[in-house]
Amino acid sequence: MKIDRSILLHERAKGLIPGGVMSPVRAFLSVKATPLYIERAKGPYIFDVDGNSYIDYIASWGAIILGHAPEELVRTVTEALEAGTSFGLCHPYEIELASLIREAFPSMELLRLTSSGTEAVMSAIRLARAYTGRRGIIKLRGCYHGHMDSLLVRAGSGLATYGLPASSGVTEDTTRYTFLADFNDLSSIERVIEEHSKEIACLILEPIMGNMGVICPQPSFLKGTERVCREHGILLIFDEVITGFRVTYGGAQHLFGVTPDLTCLGKIVGGGFPLAAFGGKREIMERLAPLGDVYQAGTLSGNPVGVRAGLYVLRYLREHREIYRRMEEQVRLMEEEVKGIARRFRIPYNVNGTTGMFTGFFAEGKVANYEEALRARTDLYERFFKLMLEEGVLFAPSQFEAAFLTASHTSEEIEKTLRAFHRVFERMGN
Ligand code: PMP
Repeated sequence: MKIDRSILLHERAKGLIPGGVMSPVRAFLSVKATPLYIERAKGPYIFDVDGNSYIDYIASWGAIILGHAPEELVRTVTEALEAGTSFGLCHPYEIELASLIREAFPSMELLRLTSSGTEAVMSAIRLARAYTGRRGIIKLRGCYHGHMDSLLVRAGSGLATYGLPASSGVTEDTTRYTFLADFNDLSSIERVIEEHSKEIACLILEPIMGNMGVICPQPSFLKGTERVCREHGILLIFDEVITGFRVTYGGAQHLFGVTPDLTCLGKIVGGGFPLAAFGGKREIMERLAPLGDVYQAGTLSGNPVGVRAGLYVLRYLREHREIYRRMEEQVRLMEEEVKGIARRFRIPYNVNGTTGMFTGFFAEGKVANYEEALRARTDLYERFFKLMLEEGVLFAPSQFEAAFLTASHTSEEIEKTLRAFHRVFERMGN
């Protein structure tokens, strides 16, 4: 496989952009590879500047659930562009999108659109602190909520990939009120509450972890967080930036029957454009300016092009719920087949999966939390990643990320991927 042009471009990029990348995981550092430069993408395939094509399981980190550039979406967006790229004022489509989001997430009685998931989370946290009059945040180890300062503590995604416990430039004052507990361990949350109960404004979590690779909640865990938060007047914030409209139309809260006080959405809700959302109980959301005393704003918030894209995607998903059933079956099939192949070639490999997303951990035992995920063999992942690329299959350039399916992945791509797994594990086993 030749990637000469990617190599050249990366050399040039390094002179202009820190590390040559606009976001750290794109650097492919943890798999010791050169980042691919992408020319175009269509359906489940992505094409690099050297003319290589790959079945894409990064899928813009879960954002493009219908696959790359569906024709009807492109038509809708083109029409939107012709009507104006940005107004900085109200427009009718944002009401349509808000209404569709609330229909899917009834807990989001009122909501605002932002331009990124980070912004949505940052706004939700500020609101929770204002509403409760408390400063503390409980964050779970390995969950990633974007790059706002107070949550860059034991975060997943790029921070797990590069082993950073936090980030320089984040002051101790900023993280002083961030308390850590563990996913799938309610007692660790209760312990923090016992110590700091009067100080805690909110508990924020990814209801299904996607940023240490996929880790599913144990049956009673999420209900437990809801109960404990209610008991102590702590707001429960579900960060469904990944899971919203992915694990089912109404997100993890629908799947597990939990009603968070605030919810953050991103990725899918913007149809592949920079658009995210946060929302929740009316009484809490009414604290936002101009009604209330909590300031939150954005020049490009509710950008008409992103809104039209999001509207198209959500309407499509609402009318084609069978997509979720298919993605669930596809993940289950992959899980079973790949585990079988791994056993056959004696590769320590375990799959955690849920609808539309999965992670294969190079680990002996089960992976149910941050500590267990960290034990996975990143050296084996590196080899796997590179061999898969040669097979024309693109997984995330890190062990600690999810693989995402889209509605455009058909049985043909799944079968091609399984054949690639077979050849790759055979080589790794020898
Ligand atoms: N929350 C979660 C769960 C995420 O996965 C991400 C990004 N991967 C974010 C928040 C931040 O979103 P963004 O990158 O759009 O700022």
